[in-house]
This record gives sequence, C-alpha cells and structure tokens, in this order.
Amino acid sequence: RREYNIVVLGAGGVGKSCLTAQFVQNVWIESYDPTIEDSYRKVVDVDGKSCILEILDTAGTEQFKIYLKTGKYCLPYRLILEALLINGFLLVYSITSLTSFQELTPIRDAILRIKEVDDVPLVIVGNKSDLEGDRQVSKNRANHLSRKWGNVPLYESSARRRQNVDEVFFNLTRQLMKK
Ligand code: GDP
Ligand code: MG
Repeated sequence: RREYNIVVLGAGGVGKSCLTAQFVQNVWIESYDPTIEDSYRKVVDVDGKSCILEILDTAGTEQFKIYLKTGKYCLPYRLILEALLINGFLLVYSITSLTSFQELTPIRDAILRIKEVDDVPLVIVGNKSDLEGDRQVSKNRANHLSRKWGNVPLYESSARRRQNVDEVFFNLTRQLMKK
C-alpha cells in the first residue's frame, strides 16, 4: 500500500486541528490546544485504491517566517528534512481573516524554495465557511489566487459542520496518486 506524507499549514486559529480531527476521527473538537503539533495515520480508499496518509497538523508557521526573512537556510534541520519528505500540502486560511489568507503566499514561497521546485501538490482551503456573516475573504479573491498559482484546487470548508472536509483531503490524495 502506498503511503503519503501530508502537512496542514496556515496561520494560528484558522482551524487546522479541527479539520484534521474531523477528517481522521470524525469528531468536532470545539477547543484544541493551539500548541499541539501531532501527526495522524489514516487508511483511505480513493477511487477504489487504498493508501495510507500520514498527516502532520502543524502549530504555527514561525519557522517558515524566519526562513523567508533571511532568505537563508536557517530553518531547523528537522523542518527542512520534513519539508523535503512531505508529498502534499494543505494551505489553510479562515474566510473570516484576511491576514490568514495573506499568509498563504509566503508559506507557499517557502515550500517551493525549500523543495527547489516550481510546483508542488497542494490544495487551498478557506475554512469556517459557516461564518458567512464574518467573511473577510471573498470567493473571488481566493479564486484569483488559485488561478495565479496555476489553478490550484480551492475549497471552502467548515470543520464545524463537516463540510468539504473529506473533499479537501481526497483531492490532495488524488494529486499524489497521479505522481
Ligand atoms: P488551528 O490553530 O489552525 O489548529 O485552529 P483550531 O483547529 O484549533 O481552531 C481554532 C478555533 O476556530 C477554535 O475555537 C475552533 O472551534 C474554531 N473553528 C475551527 N474550525 C471552524 C469552523 O469550520 N467553523 C467555525 N465556526 N469555527 C471553527
Ligand atoms: Mg492547531
């Protein structure tokens, strides 16, 4: 059975842990320790093929920021190695936070620089779609980014309502299976 390493990245508080918990364990966790960084294994069947996903739910992207500021490899070796070993990336923002959306570009830049490629399997995820009244990032704006990056798949999800959660992970898995 093939195995893929996936990492969930994005600003603090956008719902990375809630999305991961919904996908892996089918549970809604209202309050998750924001400092917990953990990985989870899940066997999934996509299009009749079974594979193993190893999902790293990260806490904070501070290291990526440091890397970007200096433009040097001052990331801890552990993280560089991890980035190199990772097959696919979920880049999560919250539709209620413009700054979380603006953080996606530097995160992607850092990934591309570390991996020394110009394209990498990823999915853009606008989480908290249930909070329409607090929306700060229009669907249009997100679509624009997706096109700019070469039509990267984009989903709006709600971890709370478990909407588009499987879709996000399955889309990434399909991209990885094709490689
Ligand atoms: P992380 O720092 O990215 O891991 O964010 P968490 O998963 O810990 O979630 C941060 C906060 O956002 C928590 O209070 C969650 O209850 C809330 N949250 C996460 N996903 C959703 C969602 O889809 N809808 C709403 N309304 N709240 C969410
Ligand atoms: Mg978290």
